Amino acid sequence: MSMSEPKIIFFNANIITLDHRQPRAEAVAIQDGKIAAIGSNKEILKLKSASTKVVDCKNKTVVPGLVDCHVHMLEFGLFLQELDLRDTRSIEEMQTKLREHVGKHPELNWILGGRWDQEKFQEKRYPTRWDLDTAVANKPMFLNRVCGHLSVANSKALQLAGITKNTKVKGGTVDLDTATGEPNGILRDNARDLVWKVVPKPSKETLEKACLSACKKAVEFGLTGVHWLAGSSEDVQILQELHFRRELPLRVYLGIPVEQLDHIFSSESPSEFGNNMLREGFIKILADGSLGAHTAALKKPYADNPKTRGLMLYTQKKLSQLIMKAHSRGLQLGVHAIGDRAVENVLEAFEKALKKDPRQNHRHRIEHCSILNPQLITRMKRLGLIASVQPHFVVSDFWTVDRVGPERARWAYPFKTLLKKGVVVASGSDCPVELINPLLGICAAVNRKDKEEESLTVDEALETYTLNAAYASFDEKKKGTIETGKYADLTILSDDITRVPPDKICDATVEMVIVNGKIVYSR
Ligand SMILES: [Zn+2]
Repeated sequence: MSMSEPKIIFFNANIITLDHRQPRAEAVAIQDGKIAAIGSNKEILKLKSASTKVVDCKNKTVVPGLVDCHVHMLEFGLFLQELDLRDTRSIEEMQTKLREHVGKHPELNWILGGRWDQEKFQEKRYPTRWDLDTAVANKPMFLNRVCGHLSVANSKALQLAGITKNTKVKGGTVDLDTATGEPNGILRDNARDLVWKVVPKPSKETLEKACLSACKKAVEFGLTGVHWLAGSSEDVQILQELHFRRELPLRVYLGIPVEQLDHIFSSESPSEFGNNMLREGFIKILADGSLGAHTAALKKPYADNPKTRGLMLYTQKKLSQLIMKAHSRGLQLGVHAIGDRAVENVLEAFEKALKKDPRQNHRHRIEHCSILNPQLITRMKRLGLIASVQPHFVVSDFWTVDRVGPERARWAYPFKTLLKKGVVVASGSDCPVELINPLLGICAAVNRKDKEEESLTVDEALETYTLNAAYASFDEKKKGTIETGKYADLTILSDDITRVPPDKICDATVEMVIVNGKIVYSR
């Protein structure tokens, strides 16, 4: 027998409901995990009974629970335990950090981590196996670039993976040293899997711990839900167990790799595991790489590397087949496409699938869709596709204009145009590529330094993390605004981010987070 939860009332609050019929309110009453009533202090406090918990918000700002629509939670959790090279300014500094890390963790058999960015290095070049060997030669090392599509391995790791100058990989590259013709340690896209295959798998306890610490961090940053990009069936199994033990502090909507399609969805109907805390969501397909690594598929060559147009990870035929397979099973798709050629090819595949098997309300998404143009945006709208974007890329990928030149850069991350053309824009972080803090994303979307005309208003940016995020998981009737009958998922902030100077948005702190009517974080 389950008892109904005690009613909570939050009052003296500055509530931004994002519900146009009642944009602001002072108090909200919660019962059974849902919003029972919303209104003035006077109206709501009248509903109080002896068992009601009453929370004085002291004029803090309450917004609908923030949701991150694209986050690799397990990798994030593991990364919290790994070496972080994000703010490394030179290869020499990278070497120092490696030596220190190995000294501090003698128990590690493999040195993993990364998030380095050669654009931030004084040397402005990729590190090589020999740079790494100079720091640590006796342990294998494998360090990802910030984009996650390119990595550097030291000699020990290359040796263990059996990589030589003759190694050829479909959908990937083993870079060779121009002088000696030997692998220089840089591995792109699928070539990275050769190393991953020989990295010992973390134990189940390690993975579980990683999932939980990622969830904990997400909640601390104000998130009440994540669209969790699963790497394998292992993530999913761990999540099911955590959910079963009621240890998930926030809602999880799964993005499942297409390779797992048969495995995960072997049961007849895709299930909702219980109370809407954990749901099987969309099927994830990777169409291309990243701009940072020159592997995002562009229509014309890279401005700063005319020898390449990037790389599609599937032939058009295979891509269409994969999309068709998931689409015809009634599933939602989320296809990673960054370059304009990748987006175009994905649109073509969706057009084909929707023609053959028309379906309203499919809510298919393009993940990232970084380099667009007006024609592509029109086609996205016509097909009813969701743009699942990561606003903070605008800040981190400050070199985008170098990669694609000014003409194409005009249509990099065109958030405002997408909204104006009626495309649903949902936002996320792509953590651990970026930090998980959603306020950084909101701040980046609002303060466009690269092109002001593509800036969003704070309300629009907030909607991409709430109502539009809910739409992207078929949940707009259940959450995304603060309305009677919706889930009580709320984020309480120190400041009213719609009223502070726009560049001060990320200075707001998360005061409290409520998921399903329960306080899951309090500062
Ligand atoms: Zn991603």
